[in-house]
Amino acid sequence: LPVYDVERIRADFPILATQVRGKPLVYFDNAASSQKPRQVLDVERAVYETSYANVHRGVHYLSEKATSAYEAARETVRAWLNAASEREIVFTRGTTEGLNLVAYTWGRANLKPGDEILITHLEHHSNIVPWQIVAEQTGARLMVVPVTDTGEVDQDAFDRMIAGGRVKIMAVAHVSNALGTILPLQRMIDAAHAAGAIAVIDGAQALPHMRVDVRALDADFYAVSSHKAYGPTGFGVLYGKLPLLEAMPPWQGGGDMIETVSFEKTTYAPPPAKFEAGTPHIVGAIAFAAALDYLAAVGVEAVAAHEHDLTVYAHERLREINRLKIVGEAREKAGVVSFAIDGIHPHDIGTILDQQGIAVRTGHHCTQPLMARFGLPATARASFGMYNTRAEVDALVDGLRKVVKFMG
Ligand code: PMP
Repeated sequence: LPVYDVERIRADFPILATQVRGKPLVYFDNAASSQKPRQVLDVERAVYETSYANVHRGVHYLSEKATSAYEAARETVRAWLNAASEREIVFTRGTTEGLNLVAYTWGRANLKPGDEILITHLEHHSNIVPWQIVAEQTGARLMVVPVTDTGEVDQDAFDRMIAGGRVKIMAVAHVSNALGTILPLQRMIDAAHAAGAIAVIDGAQALPHMRVDVRALDADFYAVSSHKAYGPTGFGVLYGKLPLLEAMPPWQGGGDMIETVSFEKTTYAPPPAKFEAGTPHIVGAIAFAAALDYLAAVGVEAVAAHEHDLTVYAHERLREINRLKIVGEAREKAGVVSFAIDGIHPHDIGTILDQQGIAVRTGHHCTQPLMARFGLPATARASFGMYNTRAEVDALVDGLRKVVKFMG
């Protein structure tokens, strides 16, 4: 195997050369959004300069060119996720939209009073709130599997709750954005299926960090965002099993999602078009495919190994800081270290680190129930991407020493 050449990767990301107040940028906010390599930026520009028109509707040269690049992106995504068919790849605005789509279509059509929707205590708000809304509308109940002190899903509680016989939808994260916990997804999906439930997976934090194979997992739905995986913002994908997509009612109505329209009756296009009303983020799709190609060229397994090394190293080094507590110490973690320092508000940690050019996220990470579980209003979170280095972790530790000196 070739060695992981992090400097060569860094050279592909123009923004990493940024100086922040005279200090080199240390970008540790990858779980919120990752930076984009030149290969993605070049594709965006090239499409607008040479191949841009609206897709699907035109017979003219540019529309055909744009359409074929756009549909080629669908095939790239299909292959990446190992879906059986391109018809299972629905283009969305992101994970949030994908989860809402499932809630408002499959959820509304299939839930009735007394049914249960099973989530976990570590979910992102976007995998909580849509289910609360459909629960209210359908009379279904939202059930929450507790997490342990290490930030892992309590598997005994999960087994009991899923075996209750009322769960219709299990909706869980693959990886926690706040703690980095990797959930034991295979066993959870198998248990959901054994209980007669469908499995909806929030894959926002998994896609950039590991090989995702929706067919091996046997996920029913799997939602991702491009912007967390080195692609553009405003674009995402919802994978859905074809028979489910075919049986689901449409989501938004408009152009492109229809077969025929009359005032008496409209018939819908087959999936995925049925769920893709309106002019899509054409360049987003094409540039996201370029991001996946880039991730493939580096090798997602190599990225995973590199980030695992950084995560282990960061855990070791952060323990050197007095009164620092790591929040979430699951055995299986992907690229996230959340922490609190006794007596210092996370916002102050973030501000003082920023003065040293270090970008971390502070706050509730859109996981307020999880923060409450740990008795914290917020944490500071360092999250890693393929271009981060051990030297940057060292800079974080030095920065935190200054935080403790100023604030402690
Ligand atoms: N789920 C998780 C676990 C996330 O980390 C995020 C983004 N923070 C989302 C869902 C929502 O993704 P987006 O904002 O791209 O729709």
